[in-house]
Amino acid sequence: MTDFKKIISHAKEYGFVFPSSEIYDGLSAVYDYAQNGAALKKNIRDYWWKAMVQLHSNIVGIDAAIFMHPTTWKASGHVDAFNDPLIDNKDSKKRYRADVLVEDYCAKIEVKIEKEVKKAAKRFGESFDKAQFTSTNPRVVGYQEKIDVILKRLGQSLEKEDLADVKALIEELEIACPESGSRNWTDVKQFNLMFGTKLGASAESAMDLYLRPETAQGIFVNFLNVQKTGRMKIPFGIAQTGKAFRNEIVARQFIFRMREFEQMEMQFFVPPGTQKEWYEKWKETRLKWHLSLGMGEDNYRFHDHEKLAHYADAAADIEFKFPFGFKELEGIHSRTDFDLSSHEEFSGKKLQYFDPERNENYVPYVVETSIGLDRMFLATFSWALREETLEDGSQRTVLKLPAVLAPTKVAVLPLVKKDGLPDLAHEIVNSLKWEQAVSYDEKDAVGRRYRRQDALGTPYCITVDHQSLEDKTVTLRDRDSMEQERIAIADLSAYLDAKLNVKYWLKNS
Ligand code: ATP
Repeated sequence: MTDFKKIISHAKEYGFVFPSSEIYDGLSAVYDYAQNGAALKKNIRDYWWKAMVQLHSNIVGIDAAIFMHPTTWKASGHVDAFNDPLIDNKDSKKRYRADVLVEDYCAKIEVKIEKEVKKAAKRFGESFDKAQFTSTNPRVVGYQEKIDVILKRLGQSLEKEDLADVKALIEELEIACPESGSRNWTDVKQFNLMFGTKLGASAESAMDLYLRPETAQGIFVNFLNVQKTGRMKIPFGIAQTGKAFRNEIVARQFIFRMREFEQMEMQFFVPPGTQKEWYEKWKETRLKWHLSLGMGEDNYRFHDHEKLAHYADAAADIEFKFPFGFKELEGIHSRTDFDLSSHEEFSGKKLQYFDPERNENYVPYVVETSIGLDRMFLATFSWALREETLEDGSQRTVLKLPAVLAPTKVAVLPLVKKDGLPDLAHEIVNSLKWEQAVSYDEKDAVGRRYRRQDALGTPYCITVDHQSLEDKTVTLRDRDSMEQERIAIADLSAYLDAKLNVKYWLKNS
């Protein structure tokens, strides 16, 4: 996988992600999506929406406001409990999330495990059985046990809000500040992550509001509105995508952890007692969605939570292998009836469903799938970026984005800027642009234009040459194999549709 610094600089150089307000030296952990990034992000969002809403007759989508009545956040538990444990290093004055310091410590042990696995794979060759090796090799088993013990203790201390024990764990593990190398830590404190703001013109009458820290609550407060107006029958889901805001203690690692980010969430309402079944089903369905993009089964794993949030009776993350290790990409949570019951209590309004089959009223249970759009962007982008050495020894940088997500699907390139080739190329652009995101490029030698499209992740290049004028064919170049084939202009539309239509990607998921 490509070096992380290279990923960040490629994202900027090729118009995917810019630091926010860069002319003022940027704003910490806030980023803007540029021309190609906005298109990639939209394509990821569409891919999710199609899979979740369009392909499920019992899931509908909404778009709730970012501002919500402030009582929402009392009911949801965010005012009291949306905290992260924070710790300061007294020498460097740097602030850290105490749980992340411990998790990073474990990630380092994990790297050791990976090294052992790689060594053994080399030694045993074809006959290597990874699962058997990791479950029997004493060194690997020892490392894994150490990780398990540490994470279990961290989970339990956080659950009990025993912050003194979190500090004790950091001290016992001799974790040092990555900046100063010092182990001179403050006590661990809780820090609320919600951003406050005010609504109203005059200071006296202004109302204190929060920027939503998750999109889910916009779904819960609308549960009955949607159920009634959509005549929805349980089980059914409500989906939405939108911005969320968290005053993260430490926002590092580019767009992995931002203070303003976008979520794609779906709340699935089920009869009480059936939540475990649905939880398992959604875990499986969501993993299939990820695998449909072809980014390698080995790059995903489930992580079942030890520490459950106040609302959950089961929770798991789908983790992805980012350039800095396996990290959470998506959460699947069995949220019980906590949210709806709590909104009932705080609002005094009933949020119940009459189940004609059971012939009773109840507050439904909820299974949630929640994925960060920006994190999905980073997963895709970092996986896709490769440096390749070609047969002739030259190097190319290629962004092997799943073609269905690529910002530009086809670039049309006239071989030269004369002899009527640009006219025919424009004609092709004009006919394909109704179905695909197409670009046109006539600057520089064609080889350099191919390289530029490779770096932008464009899966196909169409080159118009003199032969095209005579027989109405063009060359079609594949980004990944770099193979070129001659194809009739009249067949382009059908060819591209077969490769790029969401249908062919999603049908097995
Ligand atoms: P973490 O443990 O990384 O802080 P979380 O468990 O608090 O994340 P959830 O509240 O479950 O995250 O949010 C669901 C999804 O939203 C996460 O899986 C992640 O993809 C995304 N997400 C959460 N916080 C951020 C952030 N600060 N920046 C970008 N994406 C985020």
